[in-house]
Amino acid sequence: MITLSHCIDLDRRDELAPLREQFSLPENTIYLDGNSLGAQPKAALKRAQQIIEHEWGTDLIQSWNKAGWFQRPLTLGNELAPLIGAAQDEVAITDSTSVNLFKAVAAALHIQKQNPATAAKRVIVTERSNFPTDIYILEGINHFLGQSYEIRLVDSPEALYQAIDADVAVVLLTHVNYRTGYMLDMPALTAHAHQHQALIIWDLCHSAGAVPVDLHAAHADFAVGCTYKYLNAGPGAPAFIWVPKKHQAQFLQPLTGWWAHRSPFAMQPSFAAAGDIRGALCGTQPMISLSLVACGLDVFKQTTMEKIRAKSLALSDLFIQLLEQYCGSHPLQLETPLEHERRGSQISIAHPHGYAVMQALIARGVIGDYREPHIMRFGFTPLYTSYQDVWKAVHILADILDHKKYDANLEKNAVT
Ligand SMILES: *Cc1c(COP(=O)(O)O)cnc(C)c1O
Repeated sequence: MITLSHCIDLDRRDELAPLREQFSLPENTIYLDGNSLGAQPKAALKRAQQIIEHEWGTDLIQSWNKAGWFQRPLTLGNELAPLIGAAQDEVAITDSTSVNLFKAVAAALHIQKQNPATAAKRVIVTERSNFPTDIYILEGINHFLGQSYEIRLVDSPEALYQAIDADVAVVLLTHVNYRTGYMLDMPALTAHAHQHQALIIWDLCHSAGAVPVDLHAAHADFAVGCTYKYLNAGPGAPAFIWVPKKHQAQFLQPLTGWWAHRSPFAMQPSFAAAGDIRGALCGTQPMISLSLVACGLDVFKQTTMEKIRAKSLALSDLFIQLLEQYCGSHPLQLETPLEHERRGSQISIAHPHGYAVMQALIARGVIGDYREPHIMRFGFTPLYTSYQDVWKAVHILADILDHKKYDANLEKNAVT
């Protein structure tokens, strides 16, 4: 039997536990949704005030130079780089994940077309279970290009190897599946794509700040991801895009805004690509929101991804054990792999009344979320999730299930 006092003891011995103090979390809330919207670093409030009062209020237009606004997508990109195994001057923080996906896919298709050996390839591979925006962006690009590509939707991680064949130009995969928490084998799939002369783009939305990622070790081609989930940058904060040095000179994406120009302030009447990471930019960024990305990253600098990963697995293992212990008699189906190498930093469990049960949990202060069909998602964010949180969450879940304290006929909200 795992007891609450055992969990309290785990917290006492947890080296990362003091970092929770750096986040503003509401009282009596167990927040297990940092995989959807990360918690607020306390420093963000002061930083926002400083930007609004001084950088904007006092220094006005001078801040583009004086405060480094103009360079900020790249200076912050350099700060994020170590978390994903990127080198300096390879990451830009800009736009949204959806927009960055558009740029990366378009640039990758362009590179393949320029090379006589790959110019005839007409297939783009992704998973049917990918986050919808990733698939929609592929459809949008294909529409824009006159439907000249086939989008091959693959139904299981195992089937990816067969689906990535000689016809494939570009592979777009999300490293950790948003719904199930399944983590793909990035080095193996990247090597497989390269054997077939395909370029591979990794979506790291549920990986950056959640699991160790080494893009260079995997020899990946491009990556994108958001900052508002595990990186705690704030709602709608700009996303990142990684373009390694090996591809920067050929990286031509169609959103050729002035920030991607070789010399934006020369105000030339025609576009000339910067030829470096600036080529991934488009235009002016929301400076306040962008600047707050630093507050989330600052917390990561106080530890390592290895320590975060070790605690993440300990938290999710504990959650699974407690589910067996307290909820074993209920129809709960684990959707996340038990195998550590295949698991991200979340646990997904299906229940026939998943939505209603999640709403009952939220009413009791346990915040997770729901994804179709029937899946309750619980995210584990080692910077601010405690072992006690996990024990209490399962305890409350057991009470709700044992006594059917949920409304099975509940209507769904717009955001689930
Ligand atoms: C969260 C998420 C997104 C979000 O895209 P936005 O452009 O920020 O709305 C995209 N892809 C994946 C895989 C995600 O998990």
